[in-house]
Amino acid sequence: MLFTSTIRVASRRVASNSRRLLSSSATKTASSQDAARKLAPYFAAATVAFGATQLSVNKNISQAEKPVDSDCQALLEQNSSKFAQYWPRNILILFGPPGAGKGTHGPKVEELLGIPQLSTGDMLRAAVAAQTEVGKKAQAVMKAGGLVSDDIVVGIIRDRIKEEDCKLGFILDGFPRTLAQAKALDTMLAEEGARVTKVVELHVPDEVLEERICGRWIHKKSGRSYHVKYAPPKSMEKDSDGKPKPETMLDDETNEPLIQRPDDTATALVKRLSSYHGETVPILEHYNPNGIVKQVNANQGMTGVWKEVLGALSR
Ligand code: ADP
Ligand code: AMP
Repeated sequence: MLFTSTIRVASRRVASNSRRLLSSSATKTASSQDAARKLAPYFAAATVAFGATQLSVNKNISQAEKPVDSDCQALLEQNSSKFAQYWPRNILILFGPPGAGKGTHGPKVEELLGIPQLSTGDMLRAAVAAQTEVGKKAQAVMKAGGLVSDDIVVGIIRDRIKEEDCKLGFILDGFPRTLAQAKALDTMLAEEGARVTKVVELHVPDEVLEERICGRWIHKKSGRSYHVKYAPPKSMEKDSDGKPKPETMLDDETNEPLIQRPDDTATALVKRLSSYHGETVPILEHYNPNGIVKQVNANQGMTGVWKEVLGALSR
């Protein structure tokens, strides 16, 4: 049931974020960039494991080369497999209604923790674009703002979390969306002695979501999300009515055209919010007794939200 396109999309955000992470340091050499790219998913965890003293094991190497020096690289590899084998996986759920900011903050969490963000919405959109069997089944229900069947999304996640990049953990975005999905997730994790470690709930009142959803533009390939008012692309120009000119809505990084999702309409949002409150919110009660649910006020500027997300993620 696994589709190649699914894996590609799911890994996409990680790849693009690793690239962003790497390009931020202009001093890195090409070979050290390769090494860092290879090690990026393990970096955060492995650094904790062998600590600052061991990171500076060779005091003569330059600051830029230090994290990817070959001794360090060997240590990182050694430690990353130790983590993968013996440490609990970091399994996070980014929770919230459509438009809450999961796609906005998820990539930053990826970058922080070095684990991939798995968006079932992105995976399903890729399946629709590729017109796979699953895509054909999901297309109409997605456009109308309904929920795709539990069997389909559980199958997608079951396959995806077996991938190599998920071995230290992963961030779920848009999954689970029903109690049945949450229970299926718990069961599949329990099979390998794992469980959900944190649920970060981005709390936003419904009335602010229409403006967020109807003003959202996305870069399809990367999943990068923009907003006509709150996060406009650099290229945006407005017409005489103050509306953005569609041909000027381009991705900041690639200059490729942005699109509006077919389900980002006021009508579909009503249905999406109704299933969010009716079927998804009860999941919070399911995880609450474990003390892992953390609420974030996502009805404030993005910087404030991010600060609270960091607080929610820390121990
Ligand atoms: P989700 O992935 O939860 O559906 P997004 O992260 O795509 O939501 O955010 C929806 C829209 O709202 C995007 O256009 C995004 O730029 C914008 N947005 C996200 N967070 C905020 C915020 N705190 N304030 C204003 N707009 C926001
Ligand atoms: P999202 O990108 O998370 O807003 O998801 C877009 C659409 O994909 C949703 O409105 C649903 O139709 C479908 N979808 C995504 N994730 C799930 C899920 N876990 N369960 C059911 N349907 C989903």
